[in-house]
Amino acid sequence: MSLSQNLNIIKNRLPDRVKLCAVSKFHPADAVAELYAAGHRVFGESRPQEFAGKASGLPSDIEWHFIGHLQTNKVSLVVPIASVIESVDSERLLATISREAVKIGRTVDVLLQVHIAEEETKQGFSAVEVREILGRSAPDGVRIVGLMGMATYTDDMGQVRREFESLHTLYIEYPELRTLSMGMSGDYELAVECGSNLVRVGTAIFGNRIY
Ligand SMILES: *Cc1c(COP(=O)(O)O)cnc(C)c1O
Repeated sequence: MSLSQNLNIIKNRLPDRVKLCAVSKFHPADAVAELYAAGHRVFGESRPQEFAGKASGLPSDIEWHFIGHLQTNKVSLVVPIASVIESVDSERLLATISREAVKIGRTVDVLLQVHIAEEETKQGFSAVEVREILGRSAPDGVRIVGLMGMATYTDDMGQVRREFESLHTLYIEYPELRTLSMGMSGDYELAVECGSNLVRVGTAIFGNRIY
């Protein structure tokens, strides 16, 4: 099947209110261009250098989401081209994004990444930290528009559901937020049931990544 057929299968399973971010990390610019030609505009990348290189050869009206762990020394590569940085997982990163955005005169939408998984390895803020950050005004150059989370990698869909529901509960405490990003290839339908309005799907569109 073609990439756009894969994309359409997923789109048809999503309610209209849910945005689909096609995660193109580890896949060539040509693959993005193919979906762009089919009308898709929202893509996700997770490595700053790869992202900057790919974006430079592609149309400028792509809505790029940065979704990976971002080191502060790579922020300047990402801020000029990302529409949304979904993976803000520390105060220091938030401050650095603010500084870089102000420097180039733009305002970047960001999501706070929340730690919902049981695994130690997943990045993100606790609910307490999220409330603290949302309780004060956002730094210049940054708009905090929502929350992002990744569930535990497990076959236990009950556990995944509980994790998604906990993030949704936090999200609805803040009516001013508009984006709840949860759901990947293996769990996006469950995430949507739990209130997600942005899913990040890579493998189910582009196939397996070769690392
Ligand atoms: C890679 C990645 C995805 C996409 O994962 P798939 O399982 O390939 O759909 C989604 N979100 C984040 C944060 C990722 O790093």
